[in-house]
Amino acid sequence: MNSFGFKSFVDFTNPLTIKLFLSYLSKVNDTYTNVILFLLSKNQLPSNPAITLDIDETVLSSISMESGEGIWLCDYLEWDRKQIFFPALPKVKEFLTLCKTLGITIFFITGRPSSMLDFTVQNFDEVGFLPLVGNDIKERIYMFDGTERSHHIVRAFKEQKRKEISDKGYNILMNIGDQVSDTGKYNKYTVLLENPYYTI
Ligand SMILES: [Mg+2]
Repeated sequence: MNSFGFKSFVDFTNPLTIKLFLSYLSKVNDTYTNVILFLLSKNQLPSNPAITLDIDETVLSSISMESGEGIWLCDYLEWDRKQIFFPALPKVKEFLTLCKTLGITIFFITGRPSSMLDFTVQNFDEVGFLPLVGNDIKERIYMFDGTERSHHIVRAFKEQKRKEISDKGYNILMNIGDQVSDTGKYNKYTVLLENPYYTI
């Protein structure tokens, strides 16, 4: 139980859970480092380049504050009500900085419901993402309001949004996420981040 009254995936009195947590953060750090090096190695980007990103356990982490009972039992509205913001994952700000420098448009496609839009943008502001992704980011966050949140339905939703972005004339260079639902065919490359804590 942390100071907010939530159980955590990470028992900070247990060396094994701390070790797993640090290993997890290290792998995320390494993955974004590799993504940054990959982008820097490209001599030329396609026209209208875009990258699509998931949010939870992709750019923000709830692991140290999660209920530990599965993501759907984590009451998002409770996070909102208590104004508990999630920290940024390692190297995400460096990655977003490079995207801004290279003129890559960022889109977020998330399983979070649209009632969390303001809270999500506030969280981006808290961790310093807003100057990097643009103050108009609300228009580039796609949220899921379906009642059935099974893996294949969320995956179809995310794929449809990637198609819409592609149809608008963007070339989706890469999609980054932590679940299989974050993979699809409208992006040239897929980056699947480590998540040893939960699958959806
Ligand atoms: Mg996620």
